[in-house]
Amino acid sequence: MDDLTLPLLEQLIARPSVTPDDAGCLELIGARLAAAGFDLERMDSGPDGARVHNLWALRRGTSADGPVLVFAGHTDVVPTGDLARWTSDPFVPTVRGDRLFGRGAADMKTSLAAMVVAAEDFVARHPGHAGSVAFLLTSDEEGPARDGTVVCVERLRQRGQRLDYCVVGEPTSVERLGDTVKNGRRGSLSGRLRVIGVQGHVAYPQLARNPVHQAAPALAELAVTEWDGGNDHFPPTTFQISNIAAGTGAGNVIPGELAVDFNFRFSTESTPESLRRRVRALLDRHGLEVVLDWTLSGEPFLTPVGELSAAIGAAIASETGVTAQLSTTGGTSDGRFIAKLCPQVVEFGPLNASIHKIDEYVPLDQIAPLTRIYRRTLENLLL
Ligand SMILES: [Zn+2]
Repeated sequence: MDDLTLPLLEQLIARPSVTPDDAGCLELIGARLAAAGFDLERMDSGPDGARVHNLWALRRGTSADGPVLVFAGHTDVVPTGDLARWTSDPFVPTVRGDRLFGRGAADMKTSLAAMVVAAEDFVARHPGHAGSVAFLLTSDEEGPARDGTVVCVERLRQRGQRLDYCVVGEPTSVERLGDTVKNGRRGSLSGRLRVIGVQGHVAYPQLARNPVHQAAPALAELAVTEWDGGNDHFPPTTFQISNIAAGTGAGNVIPGELAVDFNFRFSTESTPESLRRRVRALLDRHGLEVVLDWTLSGEPFLTPVGELSAAIGAAIASETGVTAQLSTTGGTSDGRFIAKLCPQVVEFGPLNASIHKIDEYVPLDQIAPLTRIYRRTLENLLL
């Protein structure tokens, strides 16, 4: 069955599903799952012109109250960037040496193909499986993520669909396949700070108020503040400024306003409320006149060590000999939405060294073992 994953992966890469376009990936996957006895349901959402494609697929086990394991993932990929810099067409899957190149090869079409083939193989070997297997797939993960997984999870919650285990196929392996499983993610909180001054002539500063000068000491303090020390599962919360702008372009004008974009990646030792409060207090202490707008893009989530982490850890060990480390580093993922409904969520996939880059690739020798790891995880939990 292993050699079935590569051809499916190549078919997926050949579909240029730049977010939020699905480019037919879900049709292809849905046809395979339907043939394996899954009931399909499209959960498309969003306005015409930016319609997001979502698929919920379920194959019920023989035990009515048996556990439900859902494979979750996204068919969309990030834009290619400068095409001239790609060694081969990003939407023509291309083998060079021991790697398969193409946009989405790592993030996350290899995982999707491996999950589908693993489910097919699991069903063929164990047609009377006790627990249920499900797929929750979206084409809106790399974009705003408003009409994707978050919408599907809400619909599933409303109808009382129980989920026990979720494996998200994000590429998590760092150096070797299986070395890292994510059992949580930090939260993400963004802010846009506007420091209000009074515009004027640089030769008459007494008639103006320079927001750059006023903000500089406050920004310096924000940059060196220790927000928390992290904990056993999370690294310390970090603060980063991403954009800063002020000035009219003229050399003789004191600007009237300074704008700063910043982001927190926060651990469970901080909350969005505590971070907002501390930033506000710091700015007040510096006597700044500010307008602050906040965007909470993800709450942190954590899956304690349990059946799922043990099952996937055992599957990894038996296929690769590698002992997986649990980690909560990296960006946000759709795991944050699923964790609201599903008590155990982990993320596991192939090497992530090339994600979102020019010449994205997956090592060829990770494709078949990844498929077997997913299948063994099903066997460890659902038989
Ligand atoms: Zn991804």
